[in-house]
Amino acid sequence: MPSPIDLPFRIGHGYDLHRLEPVAPAGAGRPFILAGVEFDHPTGPVGHSDGDTLYHALTDALLGAIGEQDIGRLFPDTDPQFDAAPSDVFVEVAAHKMRQAGYEIGNVDITVICQRPKLGDKRERMIQNIARLLQCDGSQVNIKGKTHEEVDAVGEGRAIEVHVVALLVRHEE
Ligand SMILES: [Zn+2]
Repeated sequence: MPSPIDLPFRIGHGYDLHRLEPVAPAGAGRPFILAGVEFDHPTGPVGHSDGDTLYHALTDALLGAIGEQDIGRLFPDTDPQFDAAPSDVFVEVAAHKMRQAGYEIGNVDITVICQRPKLGDKRERMIQNIARLLQCDGSQVNIKGKTHEEVDAVGEGRAIEVHVVALLVRHEE
């Protein structure tokens, strides 16, 4: 048996949810952004940094896979440095930790759950942004969009959820 630290594969799951409110100045929402792509939409995420729910869940999936604490421990939301900050940096730091631990991306599978907007033709740009941050090929990244069937907060357009599963592969020596 390889030692736990030398496992050939490691898997991580990440989850995030943000409340959606009318975009400022009408409400407290920030511009609606997912995987670094801005959508023209009347509501947007409330929260720390830029509220990029997908990047936050992706960060947690990478950290989880290598047995690190979650994004909130790494980047406390009390730290003014990250207020309204682009969330790219969270993914980059997690990806760097992943490589330091001896792993690279096998593949990531992402499910975005929100009633609207539809991912539509923005999906490809989202995939390319993720692949660039993870230093992998776009074919290693998949994004699926779902509604919440108009029930509960997500279905009523008051929140967005993202799940990410990431499989890491140990570097070839
Ligand atoms: Zn978040």
